[in-house]
Amino acid sequence: MNNSENKVIDESIQGQALNVNSKNTGSKKLFLESYGCQMNFSDSEIVASILIDKGYSTTQNFEEADVIFVNTCAIREGAESKVRNRLNDFKRVKQKNPKALVGVLGCMAERLKAQFLEQEKLVDIVVGPDAYRDLPNLLEQAEDGHRAINVILSKEETYADLTPVRLGTNGVTAFISITRGCDNMCSFCVVPFTRGRERSRDPETILHEAKDLFAQGYREVTLLGQNVDSYLWTGGGLKKEQLTEEQKAASLNFAQLLEKVALLDPDLRVRFSTSHPKDMTDEVLHIMAKYENICNNIHLPVQSGNSNVLEKMNRGYSREWYLERMEAIRRIIPDCGISTDIITGFCGETEEEHKETISLMEKVQYDFAYMFMYSERPKTLAERKYTDDVPEEVKKRRLQEVVDLQRKHSGIRTEQGVGKIHRVLVEGFSKKSDDMLMGRNSQNSVVVFPREHYKKGDYVNVFVDACTSSTLIGKVVS
Ligand code: SF4
Repeated sequence: MNNSENKVIDESIQGQALNVNSKNTGSKKLFLESYGCQMNFSDSEIVASILIDKGYSTTQNFEEADVIFVNTCAIREGAESKVRNRLNDFKRVKQKNPKALVGVLGCMAERLKAQFLEQEKLVDIVVGPDAYRDLPNLLEQAEDGHRAINVILSKEETYADLTPVRLGTNGVTAFISITRGCDNMCSFCVVPFTRGRERSRDPETILHEAKDLFAQGYREVTLLGQNVDSYLWTGGGLKKEQLTEEQKAASLNFAQLLEKVALLDPDLRVRFSTSHPKDMTDEVLHIMAKYENICNNIHLPVQSGNSNVLEKMNRGYSREWYLERMEAIRRIIPDCGISTDIITGFCGETEEEHKETISLMEKVQYDFAYMFMYSERPKTLAERKYTDDVPEEVKKRRLQEVVDLQRKHSGIRTEQGVGKIHRVLVEGFSKKSDDMLMGRNSQNSVVVFPREHYKKGDYVNVFVDACTSSTLIGKVVS
């Protein structure tokens, strides 16, 4: 997981707690804004849970907040400068209410640590992704006038015992984190430095959270991790390579976890993100094919189509290996929706190597892709070993070629959905009209159709007779 995997959504979501309204009445007002990937949004739901328990209530109006927290992203320079600009907006809050506290959470906080306090005088609290349990204590320190920081990374912390407060939710779909951190060291990525070593969460707590969500009316969960394929519960935090044969037999891998969640209820849809080409097994694909409620949709970042560039990226697989994984998906789950991540202009990338990314895209024809220019990040392997030598305008031109090709492929893949019946989980009104409802099919494509008597949380079969470049349009048939 990196540039998209986390669906780096360049917008913020203000936290409005939904499922704890009864508890969300505390006198102290918390404004919580999240940037970056889905992992960060899920972490903000953990932060809201910890602070609502301590007498805070969430507000979407930072002008009235006693505490302002920004959950930050460090994946690219652009993500960080966006946070710095946003902090300026909070200056006037402090002018009006000098007791108001401003804190930064997440990956940028972890990357910069105490430097953040030196660079941003406005900031009172700096907290890394593994230290959120310490928030009440850090807030007390700050209320006493001390600037507070905790950026200790953990090898154990999974917040497994905490019930996230669903923020900005549609009440139908939710994310459940199953791992934290990452053991891969892709040379361009900051995540291992900002989120630490990988650890898998106790499966009983994952199943409990899924059952709880289903009881509340949610009908879809997405299992979340930087690399879900390396999920391995051994009961004691041991790594795969440390296990005896007996312990291996007693451990639970991702395919087995996926099956356990799917067996909870056939009306609970299951998705997951993000997969890793070097670890994705046929066992996972066969489990997906076996259960109708596991969605036929895989996000498998490729990053580059050239083996030499992949080696320099330290991705752990070659072009040939990746294409073999694609062939396995198409063979075992023929109608699978596939999306990916692509980086253009990585250190030393030649025109021929770039053309291999283009030719791989032609071979796969992805439904969707997150596409970015290479952005050098401090302290990464690439920054230490290679030179960021592809000129900006070349990076841009190559990115545009990839974006244009993907737009063509997304259109082709969407059109292939016309003339078919799709099973859709209704998520709400379409953006354009309250007379139309929207939901997604198993392949994660958006489908819109007339509302009639249907409502959120319903499963409907929609015959699709038209489409736009990315949306399927139809009518409920049964
Ligand atoms: S190190 Fe690699 S696998 Fe891990 S989060 Fe970064 S890009 Fe994803």
